[in-house]
Amino acid sequence: MRKIVIATNNAHKADEISHVLGMDGLEFVTMRQAGIASDPAEDADTFEGNARIKALAAHEAGGGVAVLADDSGLVVDALDGAPGVYSSRFAGEDGNDAANNALLLERLKDVPDDKRTARFVCTLVFVDEDGAEKVATGSVEGRIGHAERGSEGFGYDPLFYPDTYEGRLTFAEVPQSEKNLISHRANALRAMKEML
Ligand code: IMP
Repeated sequence: MRKIVIATNNAHKADEISHVLGMDGLEFVTMRQAGIASDPAEDADTFEGNARIKALAAHEAGGGVAVLADDSGLVVDALDGAPGVYSSRFAGEDGNDAANNALLLERLKDVPDDKRTARFVCTLVFVDEDGAEKVATGSVEGRIGHAERGSEGFGYDPLFYPDTYEGRLTFAEVPQSEKNLISHRANALRAMKEML
């Protein structure tokens, strides 16, 4: 059985990843399960750069174990790609979804509907036992609304209307099982699965 460490302690992400990538002969474990403590500064200016920082740090901390790391965020066209790699700390405080969403609405208050296009992006970096890398990216296109709607999900989900539902529903208004089929992370994972 080949063990692959998922470079996150977020149990939800770990479940989603092992669900999509599940294959005979592969065992996915979180860093905690693998006994690895690694929390490097994510200071690259691309999703790929930050995913690589997390993957290599866990690979080294785990003594050369195979690692899969991801980094993701929201890219808004009218804001020249912001919040991008700063998605979780857009409003300053790390991980404060309400403040981040309020700031996004404020920045877009004069932007008309047809210019509110955006996408969630996820990049995965896999580092194998020998240190060789594989990279996969996935995205999901949509638009930013004018007020929060829905209570599912996390982060910018209540403001994001994926094109799939033609502007009727936000990511926070669909069941997570459905979001997980069309999300940026799902698309990146499917691309990575082809390579593994
Ligand atoms: P990370 O990949 O966990 O570092 O995610 C970075 C940030 O991007 C999160 O804190 C959220 O603000 C945002 N984000 C990433 N994926 C999603 C998503 O599926 N829904 C809503 N927000 C997301």
